[in-house]
Amino acid sequence: MSGLDGVRRIVLVLSGKGGVGKSTVSAELALALAAAGCRVGLLDIDLTGPSQPQMLGVAGKQVHQSSAGWVPVYTDDTKRLGVMSLGFLLPNKDDAVIWRGPKKTAMIKQFVADVAWGELDYLLIDTPPGTSDEHIAIAEQLKTHPPEGAVIVTTPQAVSLADVRKELSFCRKVGIPILGVIENMSGFVCPHCEECTELFSTGGGERLAAEQSLAFLGRVPIDPNLTTLMETACFAEQFKQSPLAGVTTMMLARFL
Ligand code: ADP
Repeated sequence: MSGLDGVRRIVLVLSGKGGVGKSTVSAELALALAAAGCRVGLLDIDLTGPSQPQMLGVAGKQVHQSSAGWVPVYTDDTKRLGVMSLGFLLPNKDDAVIWRGPKKTAMIKQFVADVAWGELDYLLIDTPPGTSDEHIAIAEQLKTHPPEGAVIVTTPQAVSLADVRKELSFCRKVGIPILGVIENMSGFVCPHCEECTELFSTGGGERLAAEQSLAFLGRVPIDPNLTTLMETACFAEQFKQSPLAGVTTMMLARFL
């Protein structure tokens, strides 16, 4: 079995802007699903900034070729979470990927057709910000395997939300259902007194969801430990104990 034949549900993770935590939220959703016993794939199509290998602590691992295609990199021996990213295929992780549209399209076509995902409950697709070549290519490639829908990640600020509207319009144009909106970096919960401080304006994601008649999936607070965990490649291991695991599991229950 190759490609998406054994994949039950495909969910895209989108954001209007970079830096709002789309890849982080993709990794959190994948880890939470795997912790719930699902077989999960995470396909990173952010070709110019592939960050999933680093986030999930598998940077530097090799993708192997089997008779069924490329074997994804698994985060642990349970093989519940497999990852595929251009990051595994670059000879040097610091090389810039300066590709024109057709090359990006060809890479995405190959990711869709040639990865031996096997049987999966969920395939999450982490996309680049905005609506670029990669988005057009993936929408095209998924025509025969229509996705369950897209989850939109935003921060609470208005500038990020304006970009989200473009993302919503893209989904509507290509016929991808929108599963809901997640507001990331929404308040900072003090690790000492547990009081939540709104560092930025608040509630924008929820207002946008209401305005566009979309489901609001939840808020992910700023977790000061997150960046350290990722830099030390401990995120996947520590996630289960992190307060974000509870938040993410609650969000999943709202859209799956
Ligand atoms: P994007 O994929 O939207 O470009 P990333 O997921 O790469 O964004 O996140 C950008 C940075 O913000 C990373 O350093 C990540 O660790 C950090 N970050 C994301 N979400 C949170 C959060 N909820 N709390 C703290 N840091 C976060």
